[in-house]
Amino acid sequence: MLEEITRLMSLQAIDRELRELEEALASVSGRSVQLRQEALDYAAELEGLQLEDQQSAVTRRNLEKELAENEARQRNKRMRGNQVRNDRESLAVDHEIDSLKETKQRLESELLAMMETAEQRTARIKELRELSEQRHTELIEAEKETAAQVEDLKISISKQHVDRDLMKKNIDAALLQRYEIIFSRRAGVAVTEAKGGTCQGCRMRLPPQLYNEIQKHLQVHFCPNCQRILYFETTAKE
Ligand SMILES: [Zn+2]
Repeated sequence: MLEEITRLMSLQAIDRELRELEEALASVSGRSVQLRQEALDYAAELEGLQLEDQQSAVTRRNLEKELAENEARQRNKRMRGNQVRNDRESLAVDHEIDSLKETKQRLESELLAMMETAEQRTARIKELRELSEQRHTELIEAEKETAAQVEDLKISISKQHVDRDLMKKNIDAALLQRYEIIFSRRAGVAVTEAKGGTCQGCRMRLPPQLYNEIQKHLQVHFCPNCQRILYFETTAKE
């Protein structure tokens, strides 16, 4: 068999192993990843609410100040109202007091709405702190449980990567690139056997001329249908 094909087949074996190991790692660490994401989401929401809480406290203090000023002004107007001498002045003062009263009502309802929102926010903040803490505890547990497995998988993966890098050095760059594209597009089968006149990757009958060429082992051939790299097993009887 063509030397180049043999190397590609070894590379494919490594790549399939790597693929399985990486899938195993993803599934083992899946729970931790999910918990970590949830903890991050809670932390982000918590931060947002805390900021909102600070801003709202400032607004609330301003409203309270405005309200106190409004009350002081109403008292002043009433005192002046007691001193007026004619109806016209008295009417004007009454009018001013009414307007202040309206403002006061508006301020009070704004303040009340803010207090209600603050109450809901405080409850959510408390809840988020608990949830966040809970996720952290669960995360530590999950990581402790899977630590050994994750470690083993990571070691196996890095070993395979070392082997892969060594293997890669002896393969033509253009062919390697083509192999990698086929491997990822064709579900981890880039190199496949040409047997009984058909491509074993896609089951398509190969042109007889091509099939003959493959058997000569003179160069690398590709399936015209699925683009996979084809090899011919000489030991196998046709
Ligand atoms: Zn094919």
